[in-house]
Amino acid sequence: MRRWLLLALVVPVVLSAQPSNYDLIIRGGRIVDGTGSPWYRSDLAVRADTIVRIAPSIAATAARVIDVKGMVVAPGFIDIHTHARRGIFEVPTADNYVRQGVTTLLEGPDGSSPIPLGPFLSKIAATRITPNFGSFVGQGSVRSAVMGDVNRPSTAEERERMRTLVRQGMEEGAFGLSTGLFYVPGTFTPTDEVVELARVAASMGGIHISHMRDEAKGVLESVKETIAIGERGGLPTQITHHKIIGKKYWGQSVDTLRLVDDARARGVDATIDQYPYTASSTSIGSALLPAWALEGGAAATRPRLKDPATRARIQAETANLLRDERGGGDPRNVVVARCDWDQSLTGMDLAAITAKRGLAVSIETAADTALWIVEQGGAQGIFHAIHEEDLQRILVHPATMIGSDGEIPIFGKNHPHPRSYGTFVRVLGVYVREKHVLALEAAVQKMSAFPAQRLGLADRGVLREGLKADVVVFDPATVRDTATFAQPHSYAAGVALVVVNGEVVFDNGAMTAARPGRVLLGSGGELVNGVRR
Ligand SMILES: [Zn+2]
Repeated sequence: MRRWLLLALVVPVVLSAQPSNYDLIIRGGRIVDGTGSPWYRSDLAVRADTIVRIAPSIAATAARVIDVKGMVVAPGFIDIHTHARRGIFEVPTADNYVRQGVTTLLEGPDGSSPIPLGPFLSKIAATRITPNFGSFVGQGSVRSAVMGDVNRPSTAEERERMRTLVRQGMEEGAFGLSTGLFYVPGTFTPTDEVVELARVAASMGGIHISHMRDEAKGVLESVKETIAIGERGGLPTQITHHKIIGKKYWGQSVDTLRLVDDARARGVDATIDQYPYTASSTSIGSALLPAWALEGGAAATRPRLKDPATRARIQAETANLLRDERGGGDPRNVVVARCDWDQSLTGMDLAAITAKRGLAVSIETAADTALWIVEQGGAQGIFHAIHEEDLQRILVHPATMIGSDGEIPIFGKNHPHPRSYGTFVRVLGVYVREKHVLALEAAVQKMSAFPAQRLGLADRGVLREGLKADVVVFDPATVRDTATFAQPHSYAAGVALVVVNGEVVFDNGAMTAARPGRVLLGSGGELVNGVRR
């Protein structure tokens, strides 16, 4: 057995001699158990890392009894799409997530993961972190490791090496294969090549999760491709952070959801995850430059931008992307979230930066500014180009779960998308309580039992005796996000208590000293080690 896996394994605490005594009793709450069933009133008792009793009135003693009358008691939330490796080693308590009630983070989305995965998970296991942590293996990272970021078909020998890396990632504990066919080098990958790798993940019980090739003009074709990867690869497939980008294409969620419904009707297990915001976030280069201009990485992009004729071609395509896609038709819709080479640009929009450069603001000059930013070293951006109607249509679909696509910010640093601080509580505050778009029980199911089932986490995601004690307690009347696009560094409100593996990690408005998070392994890691999670 690999050494890092030993670190990830857990020795259960020896059970108390008196079975009537518990470590923790959460008393008098409304149990929303994660399955979607209506709430009921009960006490919930924890011993060591396990929920051992749920009953209307537990009279036994406990080391700690917490009265949560009027509050909702739910399974800790599972975030199936995070970029938590941005920040987990600086902020191992993951306050932004835990304060929302998130108790499990999944990394390695969008085709991007550490390769190999094992040493990274070993480092996570050796770092005392607060939430549980799992990962996918990224197709883009695998292709990059074998071929570089080049735009050409793979050879049979290269595909064999890629299959080996995917198999290794699965053995090291990945929950499946992620793709980011929008990004370099995913965008250079033909569907057939993805299917070959998906079959490897399938043979080891993994799923496929995809940031699709195109979320704007080609969104329908991309949904078909995502479904085809699941159908031909023989594994569950998930459209991650589903959205329709660009005013020209708004409304097409009617058709994307119909494609998912049709696929499910014929037996293809296709699902969706989503964050509840009308803006996305990724690098300005990826979002606003054509993929061909980015081939080979930054060192190859710069000479293209220096050549006047090539630069003019890139700028014309960037102007189109600003007009019809991520730019949302107005340079003010693109905001710099992080800029390492000039902090003063952080929080400014593309129109303001264009003016600051002394240019009259237009789509064309803003396109020039986007190229200038890439030349200087690039920046992370926020892009306001999603319609609320598409958002809500996708949100209420029964095949949709919640995922933040966020990261772990250092509090107060940079200008991140508020999704990192607010995704889960925003669904509860805005879409359950204020807009009545979702029932409370349905929203909780999309944050707990549904992603747990998707990942094969049979012992989490539901409040039931015998399962792991990952629990969140919140006030349904006040739970909400406070992070905004203007003021993103702001924690969730209305969450009273968070428990991870039986230990209280957030209580009374503050993080505790406990850091009980574990590395969770996918089915491949489980098979190799012959142990149940
Ligand atoms: Zn993504």
